[in-house]
Amino acid sequence: MPPTTVVGNQDKSEASEIEPKIRQFGGQLFALMDAAEPPSLFSKKGFYGTLMEWSMRDEHFKTQLFRFVDVLPTLTSSSEVAKHLKEYLGDDEVKLSPALRMGLKAAGGMSWLFGSGIKAQVTGMARQFMLGDDQKEIVATLKKLHEQEIAFTVDILGETVVSESEADQYAKRYLDLMDLLAREISKWQRPCKSNESPRGQLPPLNISVKISALYSQIQPTDPDTAIDRISMRLRPILRRAKELGAFINFDMESYVLKDLTLRLFKTIFAESEFASGPACGLAMQAYLKDCEADLRDVLAWARERNRRIAVRLVKGAYWDYETIIAEQRHWPIPVFALKAETDANFEKLSVLLLENDSVIDAAFGTHNVRSIAHVLAQAERLGVARRNFEFQMLYGMADPIKAAVLKMGCRLREYCPVGELLPGMAYLVRRLLENTSNEGFLANKFAKDVSRDDLLKNPSDVAADVRRLQSPPSTPDTRPFHNEPHTDFTLARERAKIGAALKRLRQNLGKRYPLIINNKPVSTTDWLPSLNPANQKEIIGHAAQASITEADSALAAARAAQPTWARTPAAERAAILEKVAALMHRDKADLCALEILEAGKNWPEADADVAEAIDFCNFYAAVMRDLGRPKRTQAVAGETNVQHWWARGVGVIIAPWNFPLAILTGMASAAIVAGNAAIIKPSDQTPVIGARLMGLLIEAGLPPGVANLLTGPGGKVGAHLVGHPQIDFIAFTGSKEVGLRIWETAGRTAAGQANLKKVVCEMGGKNCIIVDSDADMDEAVVGCIASAFGYQGQKCSALSRLIVLADNYDKFVERLIAAAGSLPVGPSEEPGNVIGPVIARDAQQRILSILDAGKKEAKLAWQGSVPNDPNACYVPPTIFTEVPSTSRLFREEIFGPVLAVSKAKDFDQAMALANESEFALTGGCYSRSPVNIERVKAELVCGNLYINRTITGAIVERQPFGGFKMSGGGTKAGGREYLENFLVLRAITENCLRRGFAPVEEA
Ligand SMILES: Cc1cc2nc3c(=O)[nH]c(=O)nc-3n(C[C@H](O)[C@H](O)[C@H](O)COP(=O)(O)OP(=O)(O)OC[C@H]3O[C@@H](n4cnc5c(N)ncnc54)[C@H](O)[C@@H]3O)c2cc1C
Repeated sequence: MPPTTVVGNQDKSEASEIEPKIRQFGGQLFALMDAAEPPSLFSKKGFYGTLMEWSMRDEHFKTQLFRFVDVLPTLTSSSEVAKHLKEYLGDDEVKLSPALRMGLKAAGGMSWLFGSGIKAQVTGMARQFMLGDDQKEIVATLKKLHEQEIAFTVDILGETVVSESEADQYAKRYLDLMDLLAREISKWQRPCKSNESPRGQLPPLNISVKISALYSQIQPTDPDTAIDRISMRLRPILRRAKELGAFINFDMESYVLKDLTLRLFKTIFAESEFASGPACGLAMQAYLKDCEADLRDVLAWARERNRRIAVRLVKGAYWDYETIIAEQRHWPIPVFALKAETDANFEKLSVLLLENDSVIDAAFGTHNVRSIAHVLAQAERLGVARRNFEFQMLYGMADPIKAAVLKMGCRLREYCPVGELLPGMAYLVRRLLENTSNEGFLANKFAKDVSRDDLLKNPSDVAADVRRLQSPPSTPDTRPFHNEPHTDFTLARERAKIGAALKRLRQNLGKRYPLIINNKPVSTTDWLPSLNPANQKEIIGHAAQASITEADSALAAARAAQPTWARTPAAERAAILEKVAALMHRDKADLCALEILEAGKNWPEADADVAEAIDFCNFYAAVMRDLGRPKRTQAVAGETNVQHWWARGVGVIIAPWNFPLAILTGMASAAIVAGNAAIIKPSDQTPVIGARLMGLLIEAGLPPGVANLLTGPGGKVGAHLVGHPQIDFIAFTGSKEVGLRIWETAGRTAAGQANLKKVVCEMGGKNCIIVDSDADMDEAVVGCIASAFGYQGQKCSALSRLIVLADNYDKFVERLIAAAGSLPVGPSEEPGNVIGPVIARDAQQRILSILDAGKKEAKLAWQGSVPNDPNACYVPPTIFTEVPSTSRLFREEIFGPVLAVSKAKDFDQAMALANESEFALTGGCYSRSPVNIERVKAELVCGNLYINRTITGAIVERQPFGGFKMSGGGTKAGGREYLENFLVLRAITENCLRRGFAPVEEA
């Protein structure tokens, strides 16, 4: 009996024995393939062949073409099709390579290629890879495969579900499909040879399921609920599979779902009802660095239960996506960097599967002749019968290889996606990318005529060669600033940290938090409790309430400390900020827990806020190191001219509660690192977070008096300081009402005032997103929901006006409402909840009264339900439609989970409506029209514009954040220029000419 596991790559002697065998099998396969027609996609003639050829010759054409293909099914009129075709491919602006442009001209231009009936052509192309949704056609195609001795597995397209009703529908489609196919298969005369294994007959009905389609609200923070809900919809499918004797396979999707899929597989198939059936299996992706560990774990699970399962080994379909997403989030990249490394891992894991033949039905999902030949050679070496395992290939792909594999006496199964064209486009584009990938086997074999020898090379050698030839790692990353990554909550250890931090916090609630002046605690007679918005009986802490007397002492402390601090070298000041960032990183889980309980943020929102605070410290430190160096303005003989920055003096920082750590830290750290002293006034709602920040500043070594914590009534002490002649600047983020008052007060010059006051003022927004008629609806629904209801809509960047083009309006609003209705609502400390309470009782009452008034202005299209808890401050998320642009709902900032939806008859009207606002903070557009996207870029009036994504969640340095009009003074938090608001620029000129000569460097 073979060993249960295999270790590492083969050594040299093993490789030299097996390599000739692999080449022999490869040669046989190639010879058999020669006898077959090349795949039409690579024929270099006709519609598809030409497109594929051009795509491989010109990356830009490929991008434009595939984007056009992606949007095509949503276009309902021929004029729209023509418009998009021109925008993507027909315009002179489209930068095609000169050769391709000439080729196109010679062929008669795009009109030749796309002429009339372009939709039919692309539908035809899609039909090459998918079976469509006509039952008769599906059955006929599967029967044909059956007759060719090819087994099948069927997958239903359209896995992107945005609501629970869509997940229900998806699950039902599986049940219906299974019934249909079971009925039809029973009529087929004889079993398909590819379902005959030496161990017996395999189930002819084989179904592939994407688990993400069975629950619309999978949250990385809460895999337990996801498992629960997916299992709920999966059980009837498994039950029916058991009754019908069908086989169920779990497909493997993106990395974020990998652990969940593995856990679900092991949990549900261990349930007593399914412990012995139905037959089951799952796909595993060799491009993942942790695939081997996962596979070993699955093997151990199967052995422990003595349960035969199938494993479909694939390389993985989301390589680009995984790489891009990990890079964007600064997470470790989970996939191998080199194609040859993936191939080598596929080979290594193929051996592992064959070695475990006694418990595993191995399936190798590949169209690569080398990978196939390797399996055949290793099976022979290990004495595993060829029909013990199977090859799997995709419907419509690599037909000559399929023919060859069958002729070699192997079992073959085709993966057949069924469903409508629209949801199938993502699948089509994946297949087109795969077929035209420069690194892919298919393009190399069928389009580029790479030699057989090269195609059969050992991937471990190829990887080693590539690594050797690779230029030494490009210059090390010396950028002075890197963003703090958001936490990957798919990792159990990260979830556990928050759980533990919440427990720790609960043991420390209710403490008193004094003022801090000159780094010393100052108690007052008045203390204000800070309450958990999800439970107003729970006191997070008591904050000392400053009076004018303490405000004046804080100001005196700041004035005394500031001159010395300003003369401290910029690098030293920056180092303290970097220390604060390091301390925040150390305390990340505790700070998150505090935000969850004090501000009602859910886990990812709290985590993002802490990460942003860390970013502000590190970023402003890096910028100050640079600004701290005097810069020469102009080189001129005999004179030095430099300019350098000086601190403004003493300021007051007035922060809101909605980003309780990030905004407070951002404004305070910018002021301080610039050499100013500050009085920090956190919001009344989140004073404990303010006290934590102050503690970290002291721990990091900030000298006494440079920052002073002053909690207390804004209307009294805040106003007193804003108007005080010894205050040089004010940094404020909050409501328009208070912001305008501060702006006005600061503009008045009091007797004895030394400086004109600088006001850094960031106020609200009434932000809008336009959903174009060609938008990707799946993405737009999810993005709009997140933008509108993230942190209960209590973000100045939140979406509150949604403008949907008439063509899409009804369907879009229906899906939007269904998606909103699926969001989990409840206390933010429960990890799966997306929507929590609003910040406080008065906010709750205010929003509820606006909702009441709103019902008279517009149509209440939907209102969610919230827990009936008198101690919590919930506001039901609400969507209004038919909202007139004159209404309060359309014009006023609400700062709650309320969305006003308007219909626009065309894009012109949508733009006009969008710009009808006194605010200009964030804005967005979902569109796949390059022209409309350009127009939005040029014309949408807002400080931060986001296209085809959410409009919240700006990242420090990447998206400097801030608006204008009534949204603010045009400053950009998290941008390089932000610090300049806290500085004044001095120019120094020195005449170096003495007695007719000057030092050389100045000459
Ligand atoms: C029956 C079947 C079922 C499938 N089910 C799934 C599934 O459940 N989940 C899933 O993700 N995929 C699935 N796939 C898709 C599969 O992952 C791709 O078809 C497969 O990766 C193509 O590999 P190949 O051996 O045919 O081609 P090759 O051309 O040899 O390999 C292409 C693959 O190499 C990898 N690759 C490309 N560039 C790089 C690089 N620079 N560095 C590292 N690796 C790279 C990628 O995985 C890419 O897909 C399935 C495929 C089949 C045939």
